Amino acid sequence: MNYLSCNVCAAPLTQALYQSEGGNSLTSLCQVRPGATRVYACGRCAHLQTEEMADAASFYESDYGILINSEEEDQIYEVMPDGKQVYRTDHQVKVLLDKLSLSSGARILDYGCAKSSMTKRLLAHRSDIQPHLFDVSARYIPFWEKFIEPGRWAVHETPSAWQGYFDVVTSFFSMEHMIQPEASVRKMAAMLKPGGTLYCIVPNVVTNVADLIVLDHVNHFSAPSLRYLLKGVGLDVESIDDTSHRGAFVVVARRVNEVEQRILPEEFDHDVQNWLSRLQDVASFWSNAAESVRSQEAELPPDAETAIYGAGFYGAFIASCLKEPQRVVCHLDQNVYLYGRRLNDRPILSPAQLPKHIRNVWVGLNPTHARQIVSQLDVLKVRSMSFIFL
Ligand SMILES: [Zn+2]
Repeated sequence: MNYLSCNVCAAPLTQALYQSEGGNSLTSLCQVRPGATRVYACGRCAHLQTEEMADAASFYESDYGILINSEEEDQIYEVMPDGKQVYRTDHQVKVLLDKLSLSSGARILDYGCAKSSMTKRLLAHRSDIQPHLFDVSARYIPFWEKFIEPGRWAVHETPSAWQGYFDVVTSFFSMEHMIQPEASVRKMAAMLKPGGTLYCIVPNVVTNVADLIVLDHVNHFSAPSLRYLLKGVGLDVESIDDTSHRGAFVVVARRVNEVEQRILPEEFDHDVQNWLSRLQDVASFWSNAAESVRSQEAELPPDAETAIYGAGFYGAFIASCLKEPQRVVCHLDQNVYLYGRRLNDRPILSPAQLPKHIRNVWVGLNPTHARQIVSQLDVLKVRSMSFIFL
């Protein structure tokens, strides 16, 4: 019989934990695609795995130009109470510098670096480091060659001279896309000097629930599945931190001298059971979400036009569930880089630009933080708005 097996521990995956309804899927770029999303849970290591999309290769080759529109473009990490916006790259640099004590002249490789904003920002703080870049796509080379000399970046294959060469290898939000994460992490580990550090950030589906239904995120790691993966390639896990970066795990692991046997802590199986029940809750949330959107839609006045607050994944999800999406006149967002663009053929506006006649606003934000974020929206508070939450 043909069955899927876990990308991390190779256990068979037989029963889907979640399946999108209506036969459609959403990608991380907020595109609707035909075909259901199916997510499986591994009973051995608590890894969640999404069935690979049929045309993955062409998706990455042609569609996946994430944030390639401009060099400065970034995503908002959070908006401070005083209205100051913190961008994701700045937050990532801050956390990395807090966690790692980089020696002077340290050799660093950013594996899966895309347009290399992390390395650029890091150099602004630490001009002494020796940065190197790697990605599977050649489309980012124009960004790299502006500030990194040839020989310090590679596409598709890493040079053999990089074996055992680096003090630090980083991976920011790329392992969730990898079809063979063990092979990739093994490669990253082999490029570290003995004692060198692997530093990676991946989404945490329990605190960033949208991750579950993103079609092109093949892997949704849990703390146990990360531990299993890293141990198996000879890395000693120093910390799996689920608080420093909202909605994500920040992982620090060190290369030990010899590839150790995979020795997992005694409480491993207990952790797995614990995680499986949390993952089940996330799956149940999404199984009910589409229905909840439609029943709230049915309660709106029949001629009411609405807006969707959030031009990211949650906003796209709400739009995809509506029975009458034509009643949405715009998306609202605080990210200035999105202004002038469209999502679902609707303009993306700043909250202050919300048309006066709109009284009902869907909140397309991470449900964990949505109420707090909305309560800080002074510009909408002065109007008598009704907010509809996921
Ligand atoms: Zn597994």
